[in-house]
Amino acid sequence: MLAVADALKAILGECHPLGAVKMPVLEAVGLVLAADVASDIDSPPHDKAMVDGYAIRAAELASGTADLGVIEEVTAGAVPARAVSAGEATRIMTGAPIPSGADAVVMIERARESADGRVVLVDRPPAVGQNIMRRGAATKRGEVVIAAGTVIRPIEVGVLSEVGRTKVRVVSRPTVAVLATGNELVPADQTPGAGQIRNSNGPMLAAAVTGAGGVAEVLGIAPDDPERLSAAIIEGLSADVLLLSGGVSAGVLDLVPNVLVDLGVERVFHKVQLKPGKPLWFGVRRREAKPPTLVFGLPGNPVSSFVCFELFVRAAIARLAGRENAITVVPAVLTEPFSHRGDRPTYHPARLHFINGRFEATPVAWKGSSDLAALVRANALIQFPAGDRAYQTGDMVEVHRLQSHCFV
Ligand code: AMP
Ligand code: MG
Repeated sequence: MLAVADALKAILGECHPLGAVKMPVLEAVGLVLAADVASDIDSPPHDKAMVDGYAIRAAELASGTADLGVIEEVTAGAVPARAVSAGEATRIMTGAPIPSGADAVVMIERARESADGRVVLVDRPPAVGQNIMRRGAATKRGEVVIAAGTVIRPIEVGVLSEVGRTKVRVVSRPTVAVLATGNELVPADQTPGAGQIRNSNGPMLAAAVTGAGGVAEVLGIAPDDPERLSAAIIEGLSADVLLLSGGVSAGVLDLVPNVLVDLGVERVFHKVQLKPGKPLWFGVRRREAKPPTLVFGLPGNPVSSFVCFELFVRAAIARLAGRENAITVVPAVLTEPFSHRGDRPTYHPARLHFINGRFEATPVAWKGSSDLAALVRANALIQFPAGDRAYQTGDMVEVHRLQSHCFV
């Protein structure tokens, strides 16, 4: 059976970034820039004042004090009409262009202006260029300001706006079809009859896809019947990723692996050394002139399905979208004793807190892979390695943080 790390490696080996599309900047937040963006202007576009004050010739203040005639006022958005000569100063506001002749700005706090249009400055002799940001000091025209491969965050939205870009080329969001399988399933808006349960995995996985940066295509429920299962899977194979839940264990109605293979999906692996999530099935369906469709047969038990999504599907979606999977594992201190038994690494639901300069992890009461409700109290999964061990309060453990609804 594959170890978690080897399974992830096998999956990522089949993941290739999708093609690029152009879209408005605000729709592209969280996506990856597909081409370098260069500035169309110098920034700042002119030598500008960094403070409110007086633009002067630095030499005037050599003695530490100067009495100057105020020749005009320039606010941001205006342009100076007059050059500053010896014995003169221009009142200037932050962001406004520096008048010619001036080579320093003295802060308004160092000035006393009198009613007769004169100002007395008392300050240390200024260096040439004091409180002036030179044209192009931040960015020069033609310079690459955001390189291809960068994730667009609010910061990048600001920079794109600064250089006049309202549309950008970005790597597409992967489309992810979600299909729940099982004769026992009814949609969430129905009351289950005898032997039935509601389909919780389908909506949960669709929400997880959106949160991971994919576009979810909800295919509903397929029964454990080869024909109807095939028909639903064929529909799902046109997406970049197909997520199935259920039908991948060893039961008599666990038909998913055989139906997938019959439909031309190549099996990459089946079963991972992992708890919960052991029955995970992964394969690829090759496509003409397109990267293959990735097919995940996730286990039916809701926590198993969720854990497999967190450990594997999230990383695959990130890679298709051109992103590295963000590292979400942190070391933490156990806050109570915990006895772990088992021959598989176990991901146990937990609460993680950052307190007194370190992470602390507390396991939550959990009844196993079908107990999804317990995860409502969890924000992390403690990774207990395989083997029996009695952990003590204060022992260090590795903890996988669960992400809330964001993917950058
Ligand atoms: P399976 O792998 O199909 O044998 O399913 C394992 C367990 O998960 C069974 O108890 C199923 O009833 C349950 N299960 C399967 N699919 C879902 C689903 N979509 N939502 C909730 N539970 C499910
Ligand atoms: Mg089933």
